[in-house]
Amino acid sequence: MSLQKPRVRFAPSPTGQLHVGNARTALYNWLFARRFGGDFLLRIEDTDIERSEARYEAQLLDDLRWLGLDWDEGPEARSGDGPYGPYRQSERLGIYREHTDRLLAEGRAYRCFCSAEQLDREREEAIAAHLPHGYSGRCRNISLDESASRAAAGEPFAVRLKIGPDPIAFHDIVRGAVEFAADTVSDPILVRSSGMPVYNYVVTVDDALMKITHVIRGDDHLSNTPKQVAIYQAFGWPVPEFAHLSTILGPDKTRLSKRHGATSIGTFREMGVLPEALTNYLALLGWGAEGGTRETFTMPELAAEFTLERVTPSPAIFDFNKLHWLNRHYLKLAEPDRVLQLARPYFVAQHWLSDASMPEIDRWMLQLLALFVPAVDQLDQLPEKARFIFSVDPAAALANEENATVFANPSARTVLEAIAARIAALPSPITAEAFKAAMNEVKTATGVKGKDLFHPVRIAITGAHSGPEFDKLVPLVEAGHALALPTPILNVRQRVEGFLAELSTA
Ligand code: GLU
Repeated sequence: MSLQKPRVRFAPSPTGQLHVGNARTALYNWLFARRFGGDFLLRIEDTDIERSEARYEAQLLDDLRWLGLDWDEGPEARSGDGPYGPYRQSERLGIYREHTDRLLAEGRAYRCFCSAEQLDREREEAIAAHLPHGYSGRCRNISLDESASRAAAGEPFAVRLKIGPDPIAFHDIVRGAVEFAADTVSDPILVRSSGMPVYNYVVTVDDALMKITHVIRGDDHLSNTPKQVAIYQAFGWPVPEFAHLSTILGPDKTRLSKRHGATSIGTFREMGVLPEALTNYLALLGWGAEGGTRETFTMPELAAEFTLERVTPSPAIFDFNKLHWLNRHYLKLAEPDRVLQLARPYFVAQHWLSDASMPEIDRWMLQLLALFVPAVDQLDQLPEKARFIFSVDPAAALANEENATVFANPSARTVLEAIAARIAALPSPITAEAFKAAMNEVKTATGVKGKDLFHPVRIAITGAHSGPEFDKLVPLVEAGHALALPTPILNVRQRVEGFLAELSTA
């Protein structure tokens, strides 16, 4: 590592959602900067005007902040944009133009007047003849004067970089020495005839002017790197270090895509995955701490341990189960109030809660969440797990095959009638102790015990024969009944009576 303070950047194109691949790139850049006291820049690569949209940029910034990644320079950085701005490429077109003029004047680049049709034809002929199909270099030797006067006369032209005969080599921290033959690069276009500079050109100009020391990005850009290295050399700029991160694959070892499930950060957020679970997971997707099998890392821990030397060149496989495992881990650690704030929208969407937080309802919800959060992988699974607290449907419960088997035994109805009679006499709300005593009395009076005793009662109260302990369940249902919820909750007595009524009609 050089003594220079590292400067790294994340350079997304605002053409869509932030996906796990790019999020990992952003995270590794951020961790590297934080680990070595460097700067993390955010640069918006919006030169593709047709596909770039302001709403995607806004969403990108929002997703990065949600992940806990802050940037030292870039649009909306903490202390103004920063000294190397502007940080949107669409606002830097004048800078690229000046640099193109410089390359042309120095003879490092040249105007290419070949038409698209001509180039296509040559390319097809070369492919047919099994010859290398890079650019022939036809316009390379047009004199500077002729080139300038043709341009002045309005003839359209692209600008190409002159590539020398030598192979282009660079060092990659993840992959080691990388070398490309010069003819794989063949005088690449820097500026199209439309006047629009291309990605490889602007990215290099920006990285150089922004004093980027380490380019950390996805390995889909590996084949672009020799062109970029040639551009640094043409300008006489120092070439940064590169680190190309391996591809992320789905469990079936094909490139991770929507087919495999959620891949955008926004979707994980909507599903109720905690940002600390996602960053922990993404960090491990291609990196591991020194000498350990440790799997859980907070952001400060990651920022203290991260090094590019421990990033693996082999493809990483996205394992949804592991992400869920981490999410359960962090849900357990999360402050209950925070979990409540994050969980509330899922209950509001079911019309079980209203938007406004009310102290009494919040206290009850904390009790409910303590019971159900340990049973979910992500918060959006809560409504399904807790549905029976908010609504029961005796007809549907009886239609369930397993439940029907329980009620095929005549003792089930006997038990229910006995518990109904006893709880009718109990003061509301029924406490856990009172309910337990009532169950014991039923056991003595009917002689039914074990699951023959418990399953019918549980089915009547919850619709299923397994679930939370009565000790927790009964007080929760009873307290819920007393609250002013958008959809009132039935208490234990109402549930048992409703179920018995359904049993009589069935
Ligand atoms: N805008 C490019 C991308 O999103 C940036 C690539 C780079 O980091 O150089 O893939």
